[in-house]
Amino acid sequence: MSISGTCHCGAMHFTVNAAPTEAVECNCSYCSKSGGLWAYYTPADIVVQTSDADRIYTKSGYNKHHFCANCGCQIYGTSPEWSLDGNHDLEKVKIGINVRLLDDFDLSTVRVTRIDGRNMW
Ligand SMILES: [Zn+2]
Repeated sequence: MSISGTCHCGAMHFTVNAAPTEAVECNCSYCSKSGGLWAYYTPADIVVQTSDADRIYTKSGYNKHHFCANCGCQIYGTSPEWSLDGNHDLEKVKIGINVRLLDDFDLSTVRVTRIDGRNMW
């Protein structure tokens, strides 16, 4: 069953094809400051309603962090497919949605894995 999320002001909206059961909390320099809690999908699994408020921050050029220009919420990010050994597959894209934005969703149902992104990349 699909589930949707919105930013605080409602300008940004997305829908994924299934509610997440797992999420990742990462301690890399970006995630620790932005506070996102990420669940991963393929591009085919997500529909993002485009908005004039959509802004992209990138430092590496690989990871593109979409956020709302109105309210500042972290919406989702795109990155190369990566694995927990720190390797990337630059040919594949994964999308991490911020599960904190899901509407009518109980965050306590998600199993959270903490990863050491600060030392992985
Ligand atoms: Zn917003």
